[in-house]
Amino acid sequence: MDNIQVFMRIRPLSEDEYRRDRTTESAVRFLSESTVSIPSQRTENFTFDFVGNETCTQQDVFDAVGRRAVERCMQGYNGTIFAYGQTGSGKTFTMQGARDEFTGPTDELRGLIPRCFEYLFKRISEEEVRTNGRVKYLCKASYVEIYNETIYDLLDPVMRTCAVREDIKRGVFIDNVTEETVQDPTEAYDVFMRGTHSRHVSATAMNRESSRSHSLLMLVIQSMTESETDGLTEVRESVFNLVDLAGSERQKLANTTGLRLKEAANINKSLSTLGNVINSLVDINSGKSRHVNYRDSKLTFLLRDSLGGNSVTFIIANVSPAMCNDAETASTLRFAQRAK
Ligand code: ADP
Ligand code: MG
Repeated sequence: MDNIQVFMRIRPLSEDEYRRDRTTESAVRFLSESTVSIPSQRTENFTFDFVGNETCTQQDVFDAVGRRAVERCMQGYNGTIFAYGQTGSGKTFTMQGARDEFTGPTDELRGLIPRCFEYLFKRISEEEVRTNGRVKYLCKASYVEIYNETIYDLLDPVMRTCAVREDIKRGVFIDNVTEETVQDPTEAYDVFMRGTHSRHVSATAMNRESSRSHSLLMLVIQSMTESETDGLTEVRESVFNLVDLAGSERQKLANTTGLRLKEAANINKSLSTLGNVINSLVDINSGKSRHVNYRDSKLTFLLRDSLGGNSVTFIIANVSPAMCNDAETASTLRFAQRAK
């Protein structure tokens, strides 16, 4: 399996889109199991590791992405899942699931985050049983929002801002961020929902869309293995990152001033930096040496130690099928194609 995997997911046409387009014809043409094109835009084809059509279920996405990411983390490596796409394309649906009030813990519409939690803790119990308790695990969750290149701690009651720091021993880390120990999927999901709730409340209070910030849930998974011979304990750590990115729609810089201009410029910059970083990693994988500019945005800098090397990175390119969104869909697929 490649260390960088790209999954395209198209959602069903919405009623609004149907009213605008007056057709159910999709802007995206499926050419094979893994190749699509957007005929109204250009003739280029896009090929990905997985292509999900409108009938692609949450379980399908989990099987292709979530399960593999968790497995890699259980092997002691880092895993990151990004949901990329224009606002309304299905990023939050993919990561979190359909709206909370409709999504019970066993609901089939629950997204990658609750499914990954369930699978992770199931694998942890299996390992603890398999090793007769010789390997023990500890999971800690942090949850932050990156807005305008500032990191907010969503698990802190006042959502304090945090700095990213770097030292030789720990690598890159978020200074002073809240870390909560979580022992089962319900606890982990409660922590996630609490942070998500704070995020919405603060976005409303500040009169801005949550689509204009990135959210990053980090799960640190520690395994402690007691040696059979000398009784020493070996500690291994892996980090699992689940990222719901800001909307990728082209941010208009014309006729925009002040905070809105800064916000738009920061979204453009952080998403293009992410694209550049992933592109450089692809080049390195294929033997070309290249410098990776992690420092050009907060998001890539704080994920520096989780991207590249033996880590696995999944990019889920979420798109709308509507004709009225064909240009944004093409732009999302071009972004995703650069990772291949
Ligand atoms: P984003 O987070 O990218 O802005 P959302 O995840 O909020 O987009 O999705 C926008 C709307 O479309 C929501 O009402 C969501 O429930 C719905 N939706 C998204 N993807 C799907 C899907 N695969 N199946 C059914 N409904 C979906
Ligand atoms: Mg969203």
